[in-house]
Amino acid sequence: MLKSQIQSYAAQFESASPSEILSWASDTFGDRLAVVTSFQVTGIATLHMMQRVQPRSPVLTLDTGLLFPETRDLMDELEARFDLDLRRVKPRQTPAQQARDYGDRLWERNPDRCCHIRKTIPLRDALDGFDAWIAGLRRDQSPNRAATPIVSRDARNGAIKIAPFANWTESQVWDYIRAHDLPYNRLHDIGYPSIGCWTCTNAAGEDADRRSGRWSRQGKTECGIHLPQLASPLSEVVNA
Ligand code: SF4
Repeated sequence: MLKSQIQSYAAQFESASPSEILSWASDTFGDRLAVVTSFQVTGIATLHMMQRVQPRSPVLTLDTGLLFPETRDLMDELEARFDLDLRRVKPRQTPAQQARDYGDRLWERNPDRCCHIRKTIPLRDALDGFDAWIAGLRRDQSPNRAATPIVSRDARNGAIKIAPFANWTESQVWDYIRAHDLPYNRLHDIGYPSIGCWTCTNAAGEDADRRSGRWSRQGKTECGIHLPQLASPLSEVVNA
């Protein structure tokens, strides 16, 4: 898809609903389209809408080996409820193997490298063969995400990236979850606005930005899969 076409779609979809954008994505990319989700609320709304659009679209989730049990329970529940083609994408190394090669608790000493090993490389590998992927990004999640385009070229993964909910607010997503009686991660009820690996996720204050509980002691706000460049040189870990 040409850059001009991507920009045209991105502009056109500013006034479209997420379900209209998902329908376009399905019509355009068919079985070369993947949903990528970590089972945050926007991802759950995406999976629900996809049931009417392309119910067996592959769903990729980054199973770092360090997820909360609550996240695993939710994954299992939604996989069964929607009969998802859910693919748990694992890093090349278990946490123990990573500790052997890079030292214990790498996420505390070098979280960029840890995310690179456990998220960025596995996603790149998993997206091989897909032309487009759907992400649950919203512009209201953090200043970093305020300019998220609805359609863009993801050069690192060689695919088109689609963010159908970019201009929805958190409260719109929660309204959708409640209106459709959808399950969600129980950790949200005890103060976790955004949920990733247990090693790097904390509860946050009511008024904090929605990513503030992630890597809160490391000055990091993104794992890297939504950043345009690799967090650290691929050659450092490619043979891990
Ligand atoms: S969120 Fe933390 S533990 Fe998970 S991959 Fe990133 S740095 Fe590692």
